[in-house]
Amino acid sequence: MNYISTRGQTPALGFSDAVATGLAPDGGLFLPEQLPQFSADELKAFEGLSYPALCSAFFRKFATDIDNATFAEIVERSYTKFNHPDIAPLVPLSDDLLVLELFHGPTLAFKDFALQLLGNLYEHQCAMRKQSINVLGATSGDTGAAAIHGLLGKPGTTIFILYPDGRVAPLQERQMTCTGADNVYAMAIEGSFDDAQTALKEIFADQDYRTRHCLSAVNSINLARVLAQCVYYLSAWLRLPRERQDNVEFVVPTGNFGNVLAGWMLQKMGVPIRSFKVATNQNDILYRLFTTGEYRLDQVAPSLAPSMDIQVASNFERFLYYNLGQDPARVRKVMTTFKQTGGYQFANFDTDIFSVSHCSDGQIPEIIKSMHEKFGYVVDPHTACAFADIDPDRLSVVLATAHPAKFPETIESAIGVSPTHPSLEVLKTRPIVKHPVAASAAAIRAFVEERAV
Ligand SMILES: *Cc1c(COP(=O)(O)O)cnc(C)c1O
Repeated sequence: MNYISTRGQTPALGFSDAVATGLAPDGGLFLPEQLPQFSADELKAFEGLSYPALCSAFFRKFATDIDNATFAEIVERSYTKFNHPDIAPLVPLSDDLLVLELFHGPTLAFKDFALQLLGNLYEHQCAMRKQSINVLGATSGDTGAAAIHGLLGKPGTTIFILYPDGRVAPLQERQMTCTGADNVYAMAIEGSFDDAQTALKEIFADQDYRTRHCLSAVNSINLARVLAQCVYYLSAWLRLPRERQDNVEFVVPTGNFGNVLAGWMLQKMGVPIRSFKVATNQNDILYRLFTTGEYRLDQVAPSLAPSMDIQVASNFERFLYYNLGQDPARVRKVMTTFKQTGGYQFANFDTDIFSVSHCSDGQIPEIIKSMHEKFGYVVDPHTACAFADIDPDRLSVVLATAHPAKFPETIESAIGVSPTHPSLEVLKTRPIVKHPVAASAAAIRAFVEERAV
């Protein structure tokens, strides 16, 4: 299987190269040249597989340049740090409402599903090519923590994560700074997340510097992340009663469109899922898109669900590619207009299988409270957004993207009890090791140069 860029101006690459490259050189995102199809027989053969076995079987159509046994071993290792036997348990709240818990990984958020695997793929690549790799990324919280835990202590890798000092949740900061690993540098930037992003862009634009230090970016657009996320939809779908499988709606708290895109791609591969609900918080560029056809930038207003506080839904470009008839010239045209004017108006936007909801900050504690009263179930502020507008006439599977214990203040204000988790309690006993750095490309480069492997 080869991978092409949504913008059509990058030569096709194999799986390993597309994963190592991340963002395509033409500015586009990688996608399979052709989406493979899973037949009814193949899906039936998946029933009863363990999560890692299912993941390996799924990837067989994608990771065609890594032999099956090696890949299976990489996958097996990627899910050993999850602390639930089902990896992604499906919890029924009522006959028509189920929760897919994606927060049992090492950082208690769904990003572990992709970043544990990506970390092991990087390690494998380093070993194959006898190269070391330096991973650099900026985070507003969950991504950085999950990326760090994906590469923690891995030989041949060093990870540098920039985060805005004083502007990430205290427990997220601890997940990044209390690891004790000597290949991890948590860099506390004196500035905002956007300042850190701007400095990073400048560093990555210097191709020579990138090559010299074997720099790789960690962000939400890596192809392997989207594919790894397809697997938990598949795993949930396989566990539904057969007569209800075709009727399921997945409800997905989303910011970058990464999570919901994975489910939608799985459907395009022949898995008969009825529909998806794109659940946004108050930063609702996607809500406006699906209701008005207009995709337009807006200011980001910090919310109680901070990992969904995004301005541009970067993975949306992959959806766009399919929506525009897999025509890279049209993708380039839309993305250029968007870049120049900050918006794009779609003529007829086919929203047959998508519905949308949005959730204000005021609603989040109310929803946490009512879920607790109705079902005795505690949801985190991101997952709460998904419950804003559940269709009562449909079988809904809500994706729970983070463990409530990561956001104790919001939960306590809603239900009067502060949730805890053993892995977070351990962190509180460890010293914080962070590296204050100015938000300039020069300062960041100097820091990285001194420590890169
Ligand atoms: C990253 C994140 C999201 C948003 O995911 P996208 O892939 O950007 O749509 C939602 N909830 C939590 C807890 C997250 O960490």
